[in-house]
Amino acid sequence: MNKNEMIQKITKLKKEKNATILAHNYVIGDIQDIADYVGDSLQLAKKAKEIDEDLIVLCGVRFMAETAKILNPKKKVLLPSMDAGCPMADMATPSALKAFKSENPDVKIVTYVNSSAEIKAESDICCTSANAVQVVKALGADKIVFVPDQNLGTFVEEELGNVEVLKWKGFCPTHHRVTLEDIELARSQYPGIEVLVHPECKPEVFHAADIVGSTSKIIQYVSKSEKKKFIIGTENGIIHTLRNENPDKEFILLSEKLECKNMKKIELSDVLNVLENGTNEIIIDDNIAEKANIALERMLNL
Ligand code: 13P
Ligand code: SF4
Repeated sequence: MNKNEMIQKITKLKKEKNATILAHNYVIGDIQDIADYVGDSLQLAKKAKEIDEDLIVLCGVRFMAETAKILNPKKKVLLPSMDAGCPMADMATPSALKAFKSENPDVKIVTYVNSSAEIKAESDICCTSANAVQVVKALGADKIVFVPDQNLGTFVEEELGNVEVLKWKGFCPTHHRVTLEDIELARSQYPGIEVLVHPECKPEVFHAADIVGSTSKIIQYVSKSEKKKFIIGTENGIIHTLRNENPDKEFILLSEKLECKNMKKIELSDVLNVLENGTNEIIIDDNIAEKANIALERMLNL
């Protein structure tokens, strides 16, 4: 089947099965183009909660599909590639977090949505990269542990200045690979062009950037800016979104290392397959889902 035939079939099946396709900005362009909604982690979570259709096909990685299921439990949520995981999410295990909690009973647990449902269930509140600073500020605690991204944890601590942030030792392998030398090289090749990076990058990298922000913040900044050229320091899928929304602007990827293999796993054929067969359903234990929902809802209620 060629690409157009696949797209036609997906469109037809979507209607028949009363389905909505949600996609993260990092997935391949073909998937972003057929999605009903494309957004960052926070936007996808909010959108998933208000979906009326019976079926949600989540094109992203596992934690995003789990988040959609937890926030809208009556809907069937399908993840087109079951092995699309997030290596950073796997860096926080429930046993290690439980051990931390018993040793540090007074420390509030702030968990990045890039985590498993089990980890969310052990947390006081969730956040995404778009609202991490706001969430920690609203918590009003003197000391928190930020799970699992050490770099975003450092970013939050530096932005607030008055909260001690203990950092879990996790990181996003894709963003963590970017170096200060990558920024220096890009600045020497493209003098005067602004560098925008995601806070999952190392502190020395985000310190050297002009703008630090979540996927949605980067997109908003670019659309509002009068400048015509930008150096983008986040996963390369965002370039497709940026070009679609800003056909008159030019985007340079900060480093070729900025590709997350997991985000590239979902192809049109996978979406077609799950729509046809109803396979790859996300199932979460009720007790875990209920507890994880409390941490997610606290974030959304802020
Ligand atoms: P956003 O929170 O900006 O969507 O990015 C998080 C991420 O890395 C998704 O995997
Ligand atoms: Fe996880 Fe990083 Fe890939 Fe996002 S880009 S899914 S944080 S590994």
